[in-house]
Amino acid sequence: MMPEQFPEQIRDLLIPKPSGRLIYRCLGCNSEFGIDQLLYTCPECGRVLLLYDDQFHRLKTIPPERWRQLFDYRAMLTLPALKGIYRYHEFIGPVIPLDAVVYLGEGHTPVVEANAHLQACVGMRFFYKNDGQNPSGSFKDRGMASALSYINFLIQSGQATDILAVCASTGDTSAAAALYAAYLRPHIKSAVLLPHKKVTPQQLSQPLGSGARVYEIPGVFDDCMKVVEALSEQYEVALLNSKNAWRILGQESYSYEIAQAFEYDMADKVVVVPIGNAGNITAVMSGFIKFYQIGLISDLPLIVGVQSAHADPVYQYYREPDVDKRCFKAQTVRPSVAQAAMIGNPVSMPRVIRLVDSYNEMAGRQRIHFIQVSEQEIMDWHLRANKNGHIACTHGGESLAGLKQAVDRGLVDRSTVAVVDSTAHALKFSGFQDMYFENAMPPEFEVTPDPRLINAPVYLHPDHLDQFPAPGKPLAGPAFDLFVKAVTEAIADDLNLSPKHARKG
Ligand SMILES: *Cc1c(COP(=O)(O)O)cnc(C)c1O
Ligand SMILES: [Zn+2]
Repeated sequence: MMPEQFPEQIRDLLIPKPSGRLIYRCLGCNSEFGIDQLLYTCPECGRVLLLYDDQFHRLKTIPPERWRQLFDYRAMLTLPALKGIYRYHEFIGPVIPLDAVVYLGEGHTPVVEANAHLQACVGMRFFYKNDGQNPSGSFKDRGMASALSYINFLIQSGQATDILAVCASTGDTSAAAALYAAYLRPHIKSAVLLPHKKVTPQQLSQPLGSGARVYEIPGVFDDCMKVVEALSEQYEVALLNSKNAWRILGQESYSYEIAQAFEYDMADKVVVVPIGNAGNITAVMSGFIKFYQIGLISDLPLIVGVQSAHADPVYQYYREPDVDKRCFKAQTVRPSVAQAAMIGNPVSMPRVIRLVDSYNEMAGRQRIHFIQVSEQEIMDWHLRANKNGHIACTHGGESLAGLKQAVDRGLVDRSTVAVVDSTAHALKFSGFQDMYFENAMPPEFEVTPDPRLINAPVYLHPDHLDQFPAPGKPLAGPAFDLFVKAVTEAIADDLNLSPKHARKG
């Protein structure tokens, strides 16, 4: 649809121009810094930063109905820069000119309602939001689109050249970073740090395919993070971890999409997300807060953050009910099938603490819960979801296991509606399904396969035949007929099929 075909009253708002004034604000000492340089931590006190729009209040001059209309109509534009997360330009990165926007197909992921059977198992109505359907197969693309659009803007305006982008990763950050950096070749090169043998083969193949320099180092993600932090403090590199506040901005799009998908009615909604480095839950809270402040939503949805018992520092922090006694302790993680969330010292913890307080305060009641689930629950709910038509990764299983627990414990009202985050595509983590199905889960995962969830291929090789087709050696004639007959009968027998009745007439 062309701009002149849109209603008069939104026409001049349809294509956003750069506006606002973004600043980094330190969550430790409240110092503010301009965005003309790439900052990851506060130059004054070393704590993490978030990006704020100094002129955010200007968005209130447009009434909420107009904003809603604008976002609906923008979906009909064919302009690539507004096809992804920048549909919400004014909320995501208002200073970025549209011609600097990098769009690789991220965002606006499907919201798929669970079937009646699965809803009955969980005990309430719910939808999966399939963030595995982003271009590199995880939600990380949302944040990368934002971070790389900003870097592209610096390049286009002559403020940066020859960027070397680096990140530490549990697998998906590096896949996304390498993909977006590859698109901006030759201006950007990327290097990624992975914990050796702690990412899946599919995840390892992604940055390799995108042409990044890939380093595997001993240890877990938290060790890689320390190295990459040292790198970014001592050398001229662009850090693409969620410590980079631009990542958080882009990931806020997840909340905006949920609001839009449910006609901005968040009163009876529950949003369930898995937590690793805690960038995602930070962004989800921040996104809903912004829409709430401008009046696009009149209620803040309930948020449930889920962690595995093998990597649960955020859950442990909030387990202490007395706010004054809460004390964050970094953890030594144990192996988890929710491997991308296997993080003991989440970089965004200070952001979480700040935003949980603001969120609950604005809502006037507790609207955020943290749930711990076992590895067994994660695997079983992951497999159960996919047996019912989903494409959830293990973290999607973790989210669903968390929702089930929250429902059973009465933290979530059965009459509400949940949106469960499947943060990546099932295919990235199929190795865990293989181990479960082959009864080969290493003991440290503490998962015992449930025979009812196991599936395995059936090899049909009728032993009474002496000739079989093989690649490059097809069978023909009577030998082939015999083969087809034998295999057909074996399948009919296995599936207990009844023969077709001869047709009358
Ligand atoms: C990164 C990641 C997470 C954890 O998100 P954080 O922002 O680190 O909390 C969860 N699931 C998947 C698939 C991921 O890639
Ligand atoms: Zn500071």
